[in-house]
Amino acid sequence: MTAIETLATRIEGLGELRRDEPMARHTTFGIGGPADLYLTVRDSGSLREASTAARESGVDAFVLGSGSNILVADAGIRGLVIDNRARAEQTDDGGTTYRVESGASFAAFSRRMGRQGRAGLTWAVGIPGTLGGAVVYNAGAYGGCLADVLTAVRLGDAEGDRWVAAEELGLVYRGSAFTRGRAAGAVVLEVELTLLEGDVAELVARAAAHDQKRLAAQPRGRNAGSMFKNPPESPAWKLIEAVGLRGATRGDAAISERHCNFFVNTGQASASDVAWLVEEAERRTFEQFGVRLDREVSFVGAWQ
Ligand SMILES: Cc1cc2nc3c(=O)[nH]c(=O)nc-3n(C[C@H](O)[C@H](O)[C@H](O)COP(=O)(O)OP(=O)(O)OC[C@H]3O[C@@H](n4cnc5c(N)ncnc54)[C@H](O)[C@@H]3O)c2cc1C
Repeated sequence: MTAIETLATRIEGLGELRRDEPMARHTTFGIGGPADLYLTVRDSGSLREASTAARESGVDAFVLGSGSNILVADAGIRGLVIDNRARAEQTDDGGTTYRVESGASFAAFSRRMGRQGRAGLTWAVGIPGTLGGAVVYNAGAYGGCLADVLTAVRLGDAEGDRWVAAEELGLVYRGSAFTRGRAAGAVVLEVELTLLEGDVAELVARAAAHDQKRLAAQPRGRNAGSMFKNPPESPAWKLIEAVGLRGATRGDAAISERHCNFFVNTGQASASDVAWLVEEAERRTFEQFGVRLDREVSFVGAWQ
């Protein structure tokens, strides 16, 4: 039996297991070839067990949140993809400290907190990922970021299952120990957030204002949010516009006319079409301005 088949036998009781699952079904880009094994889990214990089983079997495992910040290769992902739908939640008696499993929707949680008079997360109501993905990138918007309210994270890795203080995660602008490769193989199982009490009407109004801003600024169509981090020199969209790429296309991939840090799948774009535009933006920006754009979207899977 191959390592993949041995692993499949070991994890099939942990959730729904599929083979050769097209990743295009599970990314906001609507792009990506097949995953060898695709397991959907609904609790953090199964998430931890599946990732441990993969490590012990010598098979690569990729934890998928909402697929809203990844570009998956056309050749797909070798090994195991764990689709994290673990969403249980607990709160302390006063209702300001929350422990939430990492597959919960960040936007839905943030919106609900506002409606319940819990302040600190209204900036996040339009971010379409899971809490696990939000930890990895220290997700942020409109002057706020996860690090402002995150107190601890339950991690699963080769050292076991333990709570780690947020300060140990190296959270910076769209980055963390995860994005810098210092948490290789670690899985965010649960997060602990501490919120403040706030005025419901004011929080709901602030969330609505953020919704309006997003609606006005962001393009429709399938995308993964901002492609690049904003370098210190200038917002990434201004540089991309200045090198003449606003509205550029390659196959069905396009750099949005509306916001040129958004790369959009307008139909049946391939990952390599999007990657071509990304590399073109990087090349021109470096050649014309000496600025190296840093990707915010992670390229994952079997790229050549
Ligand atoms: C329309 C749109 C608007 C957006 N706006 C914003 C914005 O304003 N601000 C912002 O910060 N981002 C924004 N994003 C990007 C994206 O939503 C965030 O980066 C989000 O936090 C990614 O979460 P995810 O669950 O979708 O992660 P995925 O894309 O599923 O995964 C991304 C990476 O995180 C890893 N990962 C996910 N879950 C775990 C886990 N539990 N343990 C370990 N690793 C994990 C994955 O393995 C992968 O490497 C936007 C995206 C879109 C499509």
